[in-house]
Amino acid sequence: MDNFTFLPPLVMLIFACAYLLVWFYGSRVAIWWALGFVGHAVAFAGEVAFQPLGDEMRTLLVDAVFILSYLALSLGLSAHFAQRLQVGRRILLSLVGFGLVVYAIFAAESLRFELLAVDFTCGLLLLLPIARLGGWPRQMVDRVLVVLAVMATLDFVGRALVFAAIAPADSSFATYATSFYAYAAQVSGTLIGLSFALVGLGAVALDVLDRYRDAAETDYLTGLLNRRGFENMTLAHIDRMSEGAVILCDIDRFKRINDLYGHAAGDGVIAGFAALLKHALPTTAHAARFGGEEFVIFLPTHSNLEATSVAETIREAFGETDFSMIGIREPITASFGIASIRAVDRSIHAAISRADARMYVAKSMGRNRVVADDTPAPAESGHAASVSAAA
Ligand code: GH3
Ligand code: MG
Ligand code: MG
Repeated sequence: MDNFTFLPPLVMLIFACAYLLVWFYGSRVAIWWALGFVGHAVAFAGEVAFQPLGDEMRTLLVDAVFILSYLALSLGLSAHFAQRLQVGRRILLSLVGFGLVVYAIFAAESLRFELLAVDFTCGLLLLLPIARLGGWPRQMVDRVLVVLAVMATLDFVGRALVFAAIAPADSSFATYATSFYAYAAQVSGTLIGLSFALVGLGAVALDVLDRYRDAAETDYLTGLLNRRGFENMTLAHIDRMSEGAVILCDIDRFKRINDLYGHAAGDGVIAGFAALLKHALPTTAHAARFGGEEFVIFLPTHSNLEATSVAETIREAFGETDFSMIGIREPITASFGIASIRAVDRSIHAAISRADARMYVAKSMGRNRVVADDTPAPAESGHAASVSAAA
């Protein structure tokens, strides 16, 4: 034993702590990974620490801890890839593997058999979630993770097979620790294990970041994009921002709804309008709640005319929506302004302000309507349009 025996367990513990941190910041899956790497730390340390127990007991304990670690990592991988955990099936696999280890150590007294049993069990546990993927994951980091999991499995299984083929017949549990096999196992296992730990950490941490970003870009009441989310979405479309259309909509006389039926009922109407948008809009549309009871919809490939027909559909459906469930027994309506995006527009906001002006024209014309172009408004509406332009 050299002075660096403590290093692998320490590194594994540090990884376990990093996973715990990610767990603390909201990743439910990271706890499995933390357990997996605590297990690795215990198993690595156990190779030395369990020596007083005798070779058989030490090997048995280390193998048990390894199998438990890979059980945890297997569950961690599945949880990360949003698979059903199938805990029972995996515990069964672990128990069978452990049973074979017990048999190998105490009945067959065969080191080869013991290594085959433990390495195959761990490899299979790791491979199980990968085999259930049914295709490449979308994220790059997940793809690397898949490759590393497969490499780890091949490393396990390959090593066990090679050892079974070439090990001298008198290989014993006592001489194992100083064998070339043990050395090779440590080097390849450490390299692949470290990469796997690092990439896994990146993958689960990125998931947490994604979730925080989604939360920051999503409107809590409606689940639509909020203003920030809408801005970021338009940045992604900036190259193709010379076509498409925007719809701006605002629920009519909403203050009155709040005053008559209460704020909670008002929230229900806002949520109802958003639910209608999610249901009725084409899948290419991006809808956001821009403020109180005001919504903006970006249709990247729609013409003015097509957007108008989308808005008409929503207007009609909203006017017919029954809110009696939340105590409102009158129809509620909304007004819509449409603007197509022009090649000269510097940003989507130019189109939004044109749509906004048209929406105010719709309001001034009596509400519950769609205005798609610069329809000259009746007498008082010139005033309304100019008010919105100034705002
Ligand atoms: P108009 O037809 O001209 O749009 O009239 P309006 O009453 O809808 O317009 P106004 O802008 O005067 O009123 C909007 C109201 O929406 C005022 C505000 O109290 C209410 N509001 C803003 N945000 C929320 C919210 O999140 N929940 C509820 N319940 N009400 C909100
Ligand atoms: Mg309103
Ligand atoms: Mg408003």
